[in-house]
Amino acid sequence: MHRENEGVLQLRERERAKLWQRLIERLEQYFRELPEIPVAQPPNVAALRALLSSFDFARPGDALEAVEFVIEELRRTQVHTPHPRYFGLFNPAPTSMGIAADAIVAALNPQLAAWSHNPLASEIERHLVQTFGQRFGWQAPNIDGVFCTAGAEANHTAVLTSLCHAFPEFRTSGLRGLPSQPVLYISCEGHHSILKAARLCGLGTAAVHEVDVDSLLRLDLRSLEAKISEDRARGFAPFLVVATAGTTTAGVIDPLDRIAAVASREGLWLHADAAWGGAAVIVPELRDVLAGIERADSITFDAHKWLSVPMGAGIYLTRHPEILTQTFSTATGYMPGGHLGTVDPYAHSIQWSRRFTGLKVFLSLAVAGWPGYEAVLRRQVQMGKLLGHVDLRVPAGGRVERLTRVHHELSNHCRRSG
Ligand SMILES: *Cc1c(COP(=O)(O)O)cnc(C)c1O
Repeated sequence: MHRENEGVLQLRERERAKLWQRLIERLEQYFRELPEIPVAQPPNVAALRALLSSFDFARPGDALEAVEFVIEELRRTQVHTPHPRYFGLFNPAPTSMGIAADAIVAALNPQLAAWSHNPLASEIERHLVQTFGQRFGWQAPNIDGVFCTAGAEANHTAVLTSLCHAFPEFRTSGLRGLPSQPVLYISCEGHHSILKAARLCGLGTAAVHEVDVDSLLRLDLRSLEAKISEDRARGFAPFLVVATAGTTTAGVIDPLDRIAAVASREGLWLHADAAWGGAAVIVPELRDVLAGIERADSITFDAHKWLSVPMGAGIYLTRHPEILTQTFSTATGYMPGGHLGTVDPYAHSIQWSRRFTGLKVFLSLAVAGWPGYEAVLRRQVQMGKLLGHVDLRVPAGGRVERLTRVHHELSNHCRRSG
């Protein structure tokens, strides 16, 4: 600890020990009480702002009181994603090892901008990228990727890398240097972070051409092919097709193999947005639902979705080992140079200063192992199937009763199946 900060920005050892201890007790109390409190409360903006207006930071405060305030008010006001009756499973209850990892990361504060600053952290993330790339069916020497804040950044990375791949001059002269307007394709069920990515890249949302879906809400291949040829005839420059492996609303998986065939014939980059659905590669009997994903040029995978690590942990994966460096590399005198055979994350991604996001994935996997995750995912799929058979049509005014009954049925099933 820096001496001059002691007692101010860094608490003295005894106060620190008290703070950690109280924090742990308070978190355990939260977990104990959680099943008994409502999952969500209607928000009251005025009350919240009034509450916070007492904090003007003019006077230093007490550490234990400040922590107590925050935990109590979060407990009172937030939507409790770790609650056993919270069913928005895009945000599952966080893994214990993930919570421990985030605490370690905050305390040791590794800076991952340059490899040499934190070799172990950089290599852990590299190891995870290789591991997941292989799980998705790619071969070791060709796999690359990078941890992102979340899926939206991974999708943004996908649009940027595919632009740089199709139009190498985009790196220096930008879109204005291109002879024709680049366009990309995604089904109308795809995630809207692609629209934002198009805006952020300077393409504009009009460059995102939405493809129709079939009766099962999957991207329709005839619609895709028709749009590509129409667009070529109109002078556009198609460069990317985004296939979704697990749509946000219905969990639909686009026909990856057949989209890959179209993309390869048309010379388009194929990005698979498998933000939550990608976890299916962990369960052997589910692996086939993602058949063809190995033909994608890049994949978005969110560990904070189905792998349940605390938010956020997006991963961008690619089987083009040079593309991230081509897209993001830059060198400057104030950054340390590279070490043989390693890459500096700052020259390899959207971010510069970088948090050690991979640790929560590493520690969760190190403790649960693939078998642990396999068992959890398998069981959740069974629950999903069961829910699919429950009649969810709700008579007028009967919503709460009906949902309560569904919850009971699921709970009973859980108990029966252990
Ligand atoms: C959640 C999700 C995203 C966005 O990811 P964030 O982690 O929320 O940024 C993108 N695509 C799909 C299919 C998703 O489910």
